[in-house]
Amino acid sequence: MKIVESPDPLLNQVSEPCELGDKSLKKLAKQMEKTMYATDGVGIAAPQVGVLKRLIVIDVSPEDVRDPLVLVNPEIIELDGEPETEGEGCLSCPGVTVAITRKPWAKVRYYDLKGEEWEIEGDGLLGRCLQHEIDHLNGITLFESAEPRERIRALKAYEEARRLGAKPGDTAPACAEANRMVR
Ligand code: ZN
Repeated sequence: MKIVESPDPLLNQVSEPCELGDKSLKKLAKQMEKTMYATDGVGIAAPQVGVLKRLIVIDVSPEDVRDPLVLVNPEIIELDGEPETEGEGCLSCPGVTVAITRKPWAKVRYYDLKGEEWEIEGDGLLGRCLQHEIDHLNGITLFESAEPRERIRALKAYEEARRLGAKPGDTAPACAEANRMVR
């Protein structure tokens, strides 16, 4: 599947809830999973492949292990911890890493493909990834999540990365200087 890249306005739309147990979601999730692995992503949200539905796929397991988790209609029910700032990449914003401040721990309620309700919680990469992907369902990309000064820097770096032909999955910029973090 082709990745929708910023500044496509589709990335700023709010996605519709999925119908629980909808059989077509399985195929969508499989295709998203393939796209995520092909681009070395740790998560992907349906709007990133042009489908405005509340479905995400994540896999934060070590690189040599494939353990994808499909979350239908995921919803953050609790965030906790001292906010931490870390660089995040995104398949829809290739070639840039953006400093984003988030609370580290997240608890999320979701449904599986059969329509059964679950909860997942965690910090570190999992907590960050859950928040990043759920942001996509609300039309929020890295650029909207960043603090104003970092947003300006990141948008400039992104323009440069696009000019240099960055592709989804590229997080290391061709132009390291343009991508240096603002502290
Ligand atoms: Zn993303």
